[in-house]
Amino acid sequence: MRRCIKQNREYSENSRPDAIITENIKTNSDKKILLVTGLCCANCATKIETKSKKMQGIKSISMDFISSKLVLEVENKNEMNKIVDEVVKIVKLVEPDAIVTDEENKKK
Ligand SMILES: [Zn+2]
Repeated sequence: MRRCIKQNREYSENSRPDAIITENIKTNSDKKILLVTGLCCANCATKIETKSKKMQGIKSISMDFISSKLVLEVENKNEMNKIVDEVVKIVKLVEPDAIVTDEENKKK
């Protein structure tokens, strides 16, 4: 588990954040479900959750590796975009190959 994280860190320096779609994320709620696909293992999912929990303005966050769903609740919905941005950065740091998408956009 530790090995895959180290490899990802090295890789992240050259990777482009082109999979980030935060500009499409709407801020009409204090709750958001993001799909995080491409995580290599459950350990990475836990790491994303643990790191994100330390951020200010987050009420709750839970990352489920099996369903690839990241459920995010913020204290102030006006800060949702900013917080989603930060969460995406954390995802990219832990797993550069992961793709973060908005679940609501996917349904349409
Ligand atoms: Zn992993």
